[in-house]
Amino acid sequence: MEPVAERTKRIKPSPTLAVTARAKELKSQGVDVVGFGAGEPDFDTPDNIKAAANAAIAEGFTKYTPAGGMDELKDAVIEKFRKDNGLTYSRKEILISCGGKHSLYNLFMAVLNPGDEIIVPAPYWVSYPDMALLSDATPVIVSGQEANGFRITPSDLEKAITPKTRALVINSPSNPTGAAYTGEELTALTQVALTHNLLIISDEIYEKMVYDGFPFISVASLGEEIKKNTVVCNGVSKTYSMTGWRIGYAAGPPAIIGAMNNIQSQSTSNPTSIAQKAAIEALRGPQDSVNKMVAEFDKRRMYIVDRLNSIPGVTCFKPQGSFYVFPNVSSYYGKTGAGKKLGGSGDLAAYLREPAQVAVVSGDAFGSDEHIRLSYATSMATIEKGLDRIEAALKELK
Ligand code: PMP
Ligand code: GLU
Repeated sequence: MEPVAERTKRIKPSPTLAVTARAKELKSQGVDVVGFGAGEPDFDTPDNIKAAANAAIAEGFTKYTPAGGMDELKDAVIEKFRKDNGLTYSRKEILISCGGKHSLYNLFMAVLNPGDEIIVPAPYWVSYPDMALLSDATPVIVSGQEANGFRITPSDLEKAITPKTRALVINSPSNPTGAAYTGEELTALTQVALTHNLLIISDEIYEKMVYDGFPFISVASLGEEIKKNTVVCNGVSKTYSMTGWRIGYAAGPPAIIGAMNNIQSQSTSNPTSIAQKAAIEALRGPQDSVNKMVAEFDKRRMYIVDRLNSIPGVTCFKPQGSFYVFPNVSSYYGKTGAGKKLGGSGDLAAYLREPAQVAVVSGDAFGSDEHIRLSYATSMATIEKGLDRIEAALKELK
C-alpha cells in the first residue's frame, strides 16, 4: 500500500519557504550567504504589540477562544475595513485564521468542488495552484504580460473562462512582481467575473505596501454586487512584521465564512489566544511603525530597481507595491557558468546560490521561467552586497 494519500503527490513544499529556510541554515553554519529569499519584513514586531502579548500571558489569557477567532479581534478587523476600505462587515462575515495562508486554504477548501477550475493570474504566489490541487480543483493559469506590467486584461480573463470556472484569484499588490491594479482595472476585471458568476478571491496582504502614492483599492469596495461575490483575505504578518505570530483574516458572505469556520473548527481550532490579543493591538494601536517600514522599503525599492536595470541583459519592472522585484534574466539562458549551461530560472538561481552565495527564488516557482524573485525586505547594506555579487556573477557567464 502507498504510504501517503494521492493528494499529497500533487503538491510540493512551498519553494519560497524552502529558499528562506536554506539561507537561514547556511548563515547559521557561518556561510556568508546574502538572502533575497525571505518574504518577510526584516523589522522587529513593534513594542506595543509585544507588550499586548506579554499582558495576555500575564493575565492568563491562554485558553481556547472561539474557533473562528475572538469577537474583540473580529471587531478590530471590522473597524479596519471601515476605516481603511470604507467597507461594512458584521461578525458573521469575518473569520480569524492562523495566518493569511490559512484563511486562503480554508477558503479554497470551502468553495471548490472536484473538477472546478480556478483562474490564477501568473506570475502568482506559489501557494495558490497547490491549494487548488489540494482542494481537488484545477488551477487555470493566465499569464499577465510583462509589457502590461504583469497584469492580466479583461479579455485574457474572458478567454480563460469555461463552464467549469468557479473562482478568480486577484493578488494586488502582487507577490512576486509588485504589480498593482488601479481601481479602474479592477472594475473591468471584476465585471467579467460577475458576468460569469465567479467568486472573487482577493488576497490583499500587501495592501499597506504601496509606493509613489499608488491608491490601493480593496476589490470588495468596488460595489455591493462585487462585495457579495468577493472574499477578501488579509493579515497582520506583513503590515506589522508579525510573520511568526500567525494571524490572518477573511471577510466575505456569511455562508462561505461559516463553511470556512467549520473547516477550521475541525482542523486547527482557534489561532493562538496570545497572538490574537497582539493582533488587536496591531490593528487598533499606533500605526507609525507601518509608515516607517514602508518608507524604508521604498528607498530600497528605488535602489534595487536601478541597480538591476544597470546590469547588462537584466530588465526590472518598477513595482507599485509589496517588497519584491522580479527581474527578467532570460538573456543569460544558454550561457555557461561554473561548468554548467544555464537552461532556465532554476539553473540561474542555483548558479547565484553557488558560487556567488546569493539566495533568490527562481521564477518558475511563480509561473514565469524568464525571471527570478528578490525580496528587498533586508537591509540596504545586504542589498548592496548582494547586487555586487549578482553583477559580478552574471559578468562571469560565457
Ligand atoms: N498571500 C501572499 C501573496 C503572500 O505573499 C503571503 C506570504 N506568506 C501570504 C498570503 C500569507 O502570509 P501569512 O500566512 O504569513 O499571513
Ligand atoms: N509569502 C512569503 C513569500 O512568498 C512567505 C513564504 C510563503 O508563505 O510562501 O516568500
